[in-house]
Amino acid sequence: MTFIISQACVDIKDGACTEVCPVECIYEGGRMFYIHPDECVNCGLCESICPVDAIRDEFDAEPAEAAYIVVNKEFFEDKVTGWGSPQGWNQNFITDKDHPDVAALPPQEASSEPLKIVKLADLVK
Ligand code: SF4
Ligand code: SF4
Repeated sequence: MTFIISQACVDIKDGACTEVCPVECIYEGGRMFYIHPDECVNCGLCESICPVDAIRDEFDAEPAEAAYIVVNKEFFEDKVTGWGSPQGWNQNFITDKDHPDVAALPPQEASSEPLKIVKLADLVK
C-alpha cells in the first residue's frame, strides 16, 4: 500500500505535503510532486493537508486517479529519473523531469472549486 499524488497537483505543486511527510518520500518533478511507493509509510498526513485534494490512498483512488499509481512508481524508474529508492529526499534528488503522461498534459490552473479545509483533527488522525 502507498499514497499517490494525482493530476490535481500538476502546475500547482505548492510543496505543502513535503512539509509534513515524516520520511521525506515526496519528490519534486518539473510539474508535480511524486510519492515513492516503497518509501511511503502510509501515515496519511499529506492527504489531509493538500489544498487541491490531489493525494489518495492508492486503494481509494477514483478511476481517473488510478493511472497515477503507475505514474508515481515510474517516476523513480529508468523511464524517467532512474533514481531507484533514495531512502528519503535530499538535495541530490532534484529534477525538472516529469513522467511522460504528465509532461504531455496541457497547462493547468487551480480549480475554481473551494479549497479543502484542513482541520486539526485530520492532522492528528
Ligand atoms: S500539497 Fe498537494 S498540491 Fe501541494 S505539492 Fe503536495 S500534492 Fe501537490
Ligand atoms: S502518507 Fe505519510 S509517508 Fe506517505 S507520502 Fe504521505 S506523509 Fe509521506
